[in-house]
Amino acid sequence: MSKKWSLRKWPALRQIAERDPAGLGESAMSERTRALKPRTADADRVVDSVCPYCGVGCGQKVYVKDGKIMDIEGDYDSPISLGALCPKGSASSQLVAGTHRVKKVLYRRPYGTKWEELPLQKAMEMVADRVKKTRDETWEEQNKNGHLLRRTLGIAHLGGATLDNEENYLIKKLFCSLGMVQVENQARI
Ligand code: SF4
Repeated sequence: MSKKWSLRKWPALRQIAERDPAGLGESAMSERTRALKPRTADADRVVDSVCPYCGVGCGQKVYVKDGKIMDIEGDYDSPISLGALCPKGSASSQLVAGTHRVKKVLYRRPYGTKWEELPLQKAMEMVADRVKKTRDETWEEQNKNGHLLRRTLGIAHLGGATLDNEENYLIKKLFCSLGMVQVENQARI
């Protein structure tokens, strides 16, 4: 390695030689930074999507490799969000691929001090039994003036923001058919 070549690598000299007085152009690049590439460069394909976490509906680019999500970034073409994502949207790949995601039903019984794993089928039956019991016990057929109510105020539902349109449609239909009137969604909060 010649001394002249080493001096040429000195940042201040490079700024002068490359006419880059602010040091924001080529002279700011090292061999390492020149070799860097975007983490999404190896993606097989990019799928346009919408962040499911809240009612804003920011546009997303979902980068896929070998059939799996490798990253999710904001979509600059989205007129809603212009490429921006809040921390929740930026981390939404973890919704699918997060290693800490809970994939089993956990139940903490009344006065219990720890979580118990339950089979999904058993948990579904427990929910159905409790909905039926609470609905029977709190059913209001009519008010004191004799006007029909046919409702229960004993059960409420708060949906999660990652429910899609179709799921929300079915949830609303199901719970209203049971006489529930308190049906809300976290995405509106
Ligand atoms: S959660 Fe954040 S990124 Fe997702 S739609 Fe709402 S504001 Fe946009």
